[in-house]
Amino acid sequence: MSAPDLESLRKAIDAIDQQLLALLSERARQALMVGEVKKVDGTPVYRPEREASVIARLQEANPGPLPASAVAAIWREVMSACRGLERRLRVAFLGPAGTFSEQAMRQHFGSEVEGVACPTIDEVFRVTEAEGADFGVVPVENSTEGAVNRSLDLFLMSPLEITSEVTVQVRHILMSSSGSLEMVSKVCAHPQALAQCSNWLNRHCPNAERVPVASNAEGARMAAEDPAIAAIAGEPALHLYGLHSVALGIQDDPLNRTRFLIIGRYRSPPSGRDQTSLILAVPDQAGAVHALIEPLARHRVSMKRFESRPARQGGWEYYFYIDLIGHQDDPAVAPALEELKGRSAFYKSLGSYPYQSGDNTPRLRSISMSPSSSTESNPGPDSPAFDSPAYVKAIAPYRPGKPIEEVAREYGLDANRIVKLASNENPLGMPESARTALLAALDELGRYPDGNGFELKAAIARKYDVPAEWVTLGNGSNDGLDLVVRAVCAPGQSVVYAQHSFAVYALATQAMGARAIVVPAVAHGHDLEAMALAIVDDTRVVFVANPNNPTGTFVDAGRLESFLAKVPARVAVVLDEAYTEYLGPDQRYDSMPWVRRFPNLVVSRTLSKAYGLAGLRVGFTVAQPAITDLMNRVRQPFNVNSLAQAAAVAALADEDFLARSYQVNREGLRQLEEGFTRLGLSFVPSAGNFVLVRIGPADQVNDRLLRAGVIVRPVGNYGLPEWLRVSVGLPQENERLLEALAQALAHVRQGASLGQAPGSGQAVA
Ligand code: PMP
Repeated sequence: MSAPDLESLRKAIDAIDQQLLALLSERARQALMVGEVKKVDGTPVYRPEREASVIARLQEANPGPLPASAVAAIWREVMSACRGLERRLRVAFLGPAGTFSEQAMRQHFGSEVEGVACPTIDEVFRVTEAEGADFGVVPVENSTEGAVNRSLDLFLMSPLEITSEVTVQVRHILMSSSGSLEMVSKVCAHPQALAQCSNWLNRHCPNAERVPVASNAEGARMAAEDPAIAAIAGEPALHLYGLHSVALGIQDDPLNRTRFLIIGRYRSPPSGRDQTSLILAVPDQAGAVHALIEPLARHRVSMKRFESRPARQGGWEYYFYIDLIGHQDDPAVAPALEELKGRSAFYKSLGSYPYQSGDNTPRLRSISMSPSSSTESNPGPDSPAFDSPAYVKAIAPYRPGKPIEEVAREYGLDANRIVKLASNENPLGMPESARTALLAALDELGRYPDGNGFELKAAIARKYDVPAEWVTLGNGSNDGLDLVVRAVCAPGQSVVYAQHSFAVYALATQAMGARAIVVPAVAHGHDLEAMALAIVDDTRVVFVANPNNPTGTFVDAGRLESFLAKVPARVAVVLDEAYTEYLGPDQRYDSMPWVRRFPNLVVSRTLSKAYGLAGLRVGFTVAQPAITDLMNRVRQPFNVNSLAQAAAVAALADEDFLARSYQVNREGLRQLEEGFTRLGLSFVPSAGNFVLVRIGPADQVNDRLLRAGVIVRPVGNYGLPEWLRVSVGLPQENERLLEALAQALAHVRQGASLGQAPGSGQAVA
């Protein structure tokens, strides 16, 4: 059969368009009749739960080839046009025209709305409360920058309810009046946009002055008037100000996205796919946070998001912002909320509303989104070229600490002068004993490694007095963490871990399509009692990091043991002891006997830290045969290479190196903690080989540190936007960091008149 010619294909499409038009007109007529009925019974024009369920139903029925996101966009516009026949909604957004807030408004309501541009988020709330708009659109969180604190604060006081949510893919475009950089000497944009594109700007226009302005749209307006100015903004600004794009998708994080909430005086009834947002405060007493969560766990209500904010009236009390799966009127949710209300010092429901279709995975922050190697155009997760499950697209990829060479290139620095204290590596490098063993193993590289790791497992078994069959080797301990989830957890089942704990727990959970139950941290550390209570019927794994990264907090053996006794035997407990060798004499404990007592315990260790072999990637787990056997089924056969195996055997036997690693770390920790105290900075006392230090404007200080050739780790995406994590280095490296930090703080405080960085120069818990 010959292929149809272009002409006849076009004719067929024209005929379909005629049918579509007739059907859409009929749909509009029906919608008008609905409008008449609504007028009589007083139902509002816009019903978010109804629109959400129309889209969800169509997406489910979608036969393809249109992607689900296209189906949603088309019907949103159809519903917007039909709604506009009844009445055009007025929607307040954070202006001026051309901002991502406006984009969020159009993405959610379609084009048949009247936008009311407001100069501040406060004004969006005010106008909507005063009925100057039917709804308002406010940003609440960005995947790289974290929470939008002003919005969170305003929710505390506002009588408005959340009626919907919308997530906008942030694709920054560099634009100018000519479409080229030739005459450009300044880049004007909102400080956040400048920060989000700094890698690209360093590389492509290092000499252009970066001028922070009130909004990206303001930058675009300035660029339209002055050919020497380029702006960074989203697509609407490009058209609105008649500019031409210089480069597309210049944000350093290709997955950068911002979540907005729609607020109004409307209370959404259940749509069947809802979430509920609450603000709570707990009485200031021991165990209060876990008492809050307990009713949720008991009523099997899943927590989707958790954020804490210090109360503004001083002290160290917190408001907790919680999103739960389900509607507050659901019979399964209502009793849990009643109990929560009774236990809270403060309780406010912000409303129940449909969650975005395709976004029913927990929204979890992943690790620092420091700029990666940028490309001219980042396709982003909705790229039509290749589809994947929503839970995979929702993953924010792990961004490791910046490599020395990358910083040298970007900032024009001598790589030999750069100090890297960003990845909790061993500042002594690798042990000589391991180097010798590794060189001796070179001749065997033509062969596959020992897939069973006989010698290395034997060395581990000897050293830790455990059967070799209980050991699983991993390509770094990350591999082992991932193997446990893959071995015992199915998509949709749950994994429990603590807020601010190691990013790989979230990654392993999301990659499996599992549900994360993130338990609020207490004093930056694990609340083991609350974690035990958070376990529900479908929980398969609990992760406990001891010490924890990035906070450095530590749980003593007694509390760990009673936690293990509480966890049901069907739930695997992964005790991640990546930093255990750094524990002080009064903190040390031996978890290996517990593996004999608890058949569900998996102890995870690494040779990346105190043993100095991070680049070789060796870690291992110890667990009873039932779990070990399952892990071996999903393990890649040759996951640990032969050089790594040989070096690891030597390193495990090198007690001198281990003792030196410990000593250098103890002294370095003291040096850093004393230095931070001198600088008036608060820090979390650390049991690891790094310290979490509170900086205030962490991104700006980090930028100054990078320029000074010192690499540390911002931890905004661990929910700690005001903090930096500093790995312990050699004495002279620690000194370089402290000097550069003093200068960076002085510069930032002076430049932005920020006053003192928060903190009292003390250790905080
Ligand atoms: N667990 C924790 C708590 C960590 O901080 C790290 C490394 N940063 C790891 C596990 C994994 O380390 P590796 O894969 O190098 O063994």
